[in-house]
Amino acid sequence: MSAHDPAQQPLTHTFNRLAQLLIPVVRTHLQTLTALHTELRPFLEEAARNPAIVDQWRAEREAEEALGTCHCLCGAHPDAPGICTGTGAPGRDIVYNGVPVTHCAPCWQAKQWQLA
Ligand SMILES: [Zn+2]
Ligand SMILES: [Zn+2]
Repeated sequence: MSAHDPAQQPLTHTFNRLAQLLIPVVRTHLQTLTALHTELRPFLEEAARNPAIVDQWRAEREAEEALGTCHCLCGAHPDAPGICTGTGAPGRDIVYNGVPVTHCAPCWQAKQWQLA
């Protein structure tokens, strides 16, 4: 029996086997991260050059969050099914019986066409 006999070095053997199994997983993960970085790089560079864009984007998302979800009854615009984004848009409330109801921009637009 040599010192390299797996039976003599069970932990080392297990560790090496695990490393062999993980190499392709780590490689795939790195490829995904590299692709993501390549995709996001123009946006990250633009954000670094112009921080005001990030502030504007954040303010827009916070405004959307404050409005909440679209409460459109989408069956009421049958000519435009499946357009709802689900997210309320600033300034797109429609008043029903005196109550402002949050709408997403596409649903709001569809109802404007219907009312026209
Ligand atoms: Zn709708
Ligand atoms: Zn909607």
